[in-house]
Amino acid sequence: MLYVKAPAKINLTLDVLYKRQDNFHEVEMIMTTVDLADRIGLEPRGDGLIKIISADRFVPDDERNFAYQAAQLLKDTYGIKEGVSIKIDKEIPIAAGLAGGSSDAAATLRGLNEMWNLNLSLDELAELGAKIGSDVSFCVYGGTALATGRGEKIQELPPPPTCWVVLAKPKIGVSTADVYGGLKLDGLEHPNTKQMVQAIENEDYELLCQSLGNVLESVTFKLHPEVVMIKEHMQRFGADAVLMSGSGPTVFGLVDTETRTTRIYNGLRGFCEEVYVVRLLGERNPLA
Ligand code: ATP
Repeated sequence: MLYVKAPAKINLTLDVLYKRQDNFHEVEMIMTTVDLADRIGLEPRGDGLIKIISADRFVPDDERNFAYQAAQLLKDTYGIKEGVSIKIDKEIPIAAGLAGGSSDAAATLRGLNEMWNLNLSLDELAELGAKIGSDVSFCVYGGTALATGRGEKIQELPPPPTCWVVLAKPKIGVSTADVYGGLKLDGLEHPNTKQMVQAIENEDYELLCQSLGNVLESVTFKLHPEVVMIKEHMQRFGADAVLMSGSGPTVFGLVDTETRTTRIYNGLRGFCEEVYVVRLLGERNPLA
């Protein structure tokens, strides 16, 4: 069995610039990986089939699974006859704004590239990944990047200043399509993406905290008031800066010392079942 780590991402910024003629939104976002990860196990099958194995009943076990789609895409593109069993140990909450499904697809691409001796570069894998979903390209590289286009154009950034991240996910799942559907482009308060790039490049933690921004927050906040409550609690318990990731509902808080994470963790655990204290990974993924 070949094991590949599939880390979650958070958005340090998420901006929507305009709606394109193909109905996708043109976005500009800075994403970075954290050390909360699913584990993907890949085992060759002689019968040519793709099988998904997961103990989590919310993980689809057929072609709706992004990891399944990744294996199918490689089989179709490179005429692979071999099959694969894909074991998914889920740690990343589902439909949370943490790109769990996209990261599973990316890890499957990286792992099968090795298992099937395809010798594809990360750039080639990322280009294939974009066919599965907009976030898959970023997840192929991991690390920290500015993503543009519909999210598939990736420019690598250096690792952000080290800090701790407290993640809190309320019990609801959020549909990304519903949130984008509810977005009104007029009068948006756009995050300062350039300033965030500067904060990362200069390893300026304070400026990074000041530059967090996500235009989808206001939409998700209206649909799910409990997300606002979590953000407020996180601020009150002492996080340096707080933001919703992706289309939500996960909210993350940045903290520069580990000892202060304990108070936030304990405070949030009172009314939120899924709370994690993690680190930023910062660096890019290994090829597999
Ligand atoms: P994003 O941040 O990219 O919008 P997300 O973290 O909000 O993604 P996912 O956890 O990727 O959302 O799940 C979204 C949907 O994708 C789920 O409802 C699920 O049915 C489907 N899905 C497909 N493959 C997977 C997978 N490997 N793991 C989890 N969900 C998957």
